[in-house]
Amino acid sequence: MLSQNITGAKIVGDFIATTLGPRGMDKLLYDTDDADDGLGNYFEVTNNGAYLLKRLPFQSPGGRVIARVAAAQEERCGDGTTTTAIYASEILRAVEPLIEQGLHPTTIASGIKEAVTIATETIHAESRPVTLSDDELLTAVAQTTLQGKTAEPILDTLSQWSVEAVRTLAQEHESEVRVNTDLVQIESLRSGTITDTELVDGMVLKKSFAGNYEPTNLDNPNIAVVTQGFARAEAIRHRLSSDSHSSTQTVTYDLSDPDSVDAFADFEVEHVTELLEPLIAADVDVVLVGDRVEDELLPYFDAAEIAVVRNARTDRMQKVARATGATINTHLRDFDSTDTGKTARLERRRYPGIEQNALLFWGGAGEQVVSVLAHGSTWMSGWELERNIMNAIRSVSAAVESGHVVPGGGAIEITVARQLREDAPAVGGRESLVIEAVADALEGIPKTLARNAGMDLVNTLTTLRAAHWNSRKETGVLGQERVVGNVVEQGILEPATSKRYALEAAASVATTILRIDDVLPASS
Ligand code: ADP
Ligand code: MG
Repeated sequence: MLSQNITGAKIVGDFIATTLGPRGMDKLLYDTDDADDGLGNYFEVTNNGAYLLKRLPFQSPGGRVIARVAAAQEERCGDGTTTTAIYASEILRAVEPLIEQGLHPTTIASGIKEAVTIATETIHAESRPVTLSDDELLTAVAQTTLQGKTAEPILDTLSQWSVEAVRTLAQEHESEVRVNTDLVQIESLRSGTITDTELVDGMVLKKSFAGNYEPTNLDNPNIAVVTQGFARAEAIRHRLSSDSHSSTQTVTYDLSDPDSVDAFADFEVEHVTELLEPLIAADVDVVLVGDRVEDELLPYFDAAEIAVVRNARTDRMQKVARATGATINTHLRDFDSTDTGKTARLERRRYPGIEQNALLFWGGAGEQVVSVLAHGSTWMSGWELERNIMNAIRSVSAAVESGHVVPGGGAIEITVARQLREDAPAVGGRESLVIEAVADALEGIPKTLARNAGMDLVNTLTTLRAAHWNSRKETGVLGQERVVGNVVEQGILEPATSKRYALEAAASVATTILRIDDVLPASS
C-alpha cells in the first residue's frame, strides 16, 4: 500500500514539475464531459500547480493528498504551489530507499521533523529584510512570480501595480504590516489585448445597467445595495401586507374587465412608486440588486433616474458595499438613507464587441479596494491572467507581512540542503540518513528548474554545490538565461514565508503518506 501511495505521489510530482519556473510549460485542460451543460469542449491553459491539480481527476490516494497540499499552499501564500507538490513528492522519493532498507516510518517521520527545524532556521538566517518602501525588492518578488506566465508580456507594469496595490491595501499597526488581499477585485474582459489591462484604484464591476437610464459618468453618486430582487407582485404583496398587517389577504382582479385592468395598473403604479420611495428619499443614483429585477419595473427606475444593476453576484455586491461604505439590506423596504454608500465618481465603460460594460467606482467612501481590469482575447487566457495577478499581489503581500525575502531560482534550496548535510552527522543515528534524504529532495527544485530550461543536470548541480560550498549563497539557476549565476542580482526573490510554509506543508503531507498502511474508501 505504502509503495503504491508513494508511486502515486511521485507521478503527480513529476507531472506538475514540468510547469515549474520561467521555462515551465503550460498545460492545456479540456473538459471531456459531453454533458450538455454549455461547458462541453471547453479549453483552459494553466501553469498554476494548485489549479492544475484541483482540476485533474487523480485516482491514487497518494496523488490526491499531494493535490490537497498544493491547494493548502495556495490558500495560505497564493504562490509556491508547484514547489510544495515537488517538495512533497521528492521527499517521498528520497526516503523510499530508506523504507526498503527497513527504516521504520516513525523514525523517518522524526528525521523529517528534524530536517524541517534545521531548514526553517536556515531560511530565517538567509533571509533579507524588506519593507513596504523597498521598491526594487518588492517589484522583484512580483516579477519572480510572473516569469514564464501568461502575464509575462506585461510583467513590468503588473509588477509595479502589484506593489502599488499592496501599498494601498497595507495597514500598519505597531511595526506589523497586514494586507487584506480579499479587497483585490479582478475582472477579465474578452476585449483588447493583455497590454490594455489596467489598475483601478477602487472597485470594478463587470456589469451593464439594466434600464434605459445608463449614465456614463456620475459624480458623487449615492449607492444602495439590496440582496432581494423586485417584481411587481412583490411590491403589491408588500403593500397588501402592510395594509392589513397580514399577508393572507387576497385581491382578485378580473383582467377581462377593462375597468379592472385599469384599476390593476393604477394599483401597480402606486405601489411600485411606493417601493421606490426610500431610494428617491435618499437621493440614490445607483441601486445594486443581488437578484432579479423584473423588466416591467425598469421604466419606473428610469423615470426616477436610478440606474439599476441586477443579478449582481454576492461577493461582488459585498465588495461594492465595502468600497462605498453602503449597508447591505435584504429588502428594499428596509433601506434608509443611512445605508447609502458613496463613491467620488462612477464611470461606465463600453468595449467594442462585448456586451457587458465595466462599472468603475473611483474613490469609494468605504474601505480601500483595488481592482485590476484584465483584458485578453479569450476566456482561457483571462482566467490564467487573473490567477497570475493574484499570485503576484499575494507574494508581495507575503513579503511585506513577514518582512523577509530569500533568493529564488533554487538558491535557497541548495543553501538549506548544504546545511542539512552539514548538520546530519551531529543528529546521528538513523535520523541522519533521513535528513540527508530531505537535502536531496530540496535539490529537486534547482534540478527541475534546470531540466525545464534544458540545462545539463549533473553540471548544473555540481556547479551550484561548489558555489555554495564557497559561500556564494546567491548562486542559483538563471532560468531565462539558462545558466548558473547570481539570482539576487537578477532580482529572483521570493517571500521567506512561502518557502517555509511550502516545506512545512510538504513535510507534513509526506509524513502522513508514510504512516498510511491502508486506504479505505469512505462514502460521503
Ligand atoms: P510555484 O507554483 O511553486 O510558484 P512557479 O512555476 O511559479 O511555481 O516557479 C517558481 C520557481 O521558479 C521558484 O523556485 C522561483 O524562484 C523560480 N524562478 C522564478 N523566476 C526565475 C528565473 N528567472 N530563473 C530561475 N528561477 C526562477
Ligand atoms: Mg509561482
